[in-house]
Amino acid sequence: MNEAHIERMKDLPSTHLLGAGTALCAGCGGLEMLKEAYDILGENTIFVNAAGCMTLMSIYPFTPFRGSWLYTSIASAPAGAQGVRDALDVLKQSGRMSEEEDLQVVVLTGDGAASGIGLSSTSGAIDRDLDFIYLCYDNEGYGNTG
Ligand code: SF4
Repeated sequence: MNEAHIERMKDLPSTHLLGAGTALCAGCGGLEMLKEAYDILGENTIFVNAAGCMTLMSIYPFTPFRGSWLYTSIASAPAGAQGVRDALDVLKQSGRMSEEEDLQVVVLTGDGAASGIGLSSTSGAIDRDLDFIYLCYDNEGYGNTG
């Protein structure tokens, strides 16, 4: 896992993991948040994405990510992330994967998938103590579908 201590803007990494040229709106605040978070988390990260604006980022066979990406239905990204986290833990506990190979699991979702359509999946993840990172960009608008 990559651990960083960031206090000021100038502490942020100056090189970026996320590739350029996505299909998101120019100036998207959610994209900027993702870019900074990815740099801090490091490339051993797997993003579990609820259907939404960010779905436009990784359309086969193209992706701006260095690592893995799992796309779920709009209401189930936390459930998908829990499955990935559990699978990684099983691999580690059975000795088939080392601690160094472990991945940081990150839910990437908009506010609609987090608290509107996907509230039951989000509350279930919180009830299970949420052993993955949860990034929510709040555009308050179901921006991908209107
Ligand atoms: S509609 Fe979606 S892609 Fe466009 S700026 Fe808003 S969050 Fe970003």
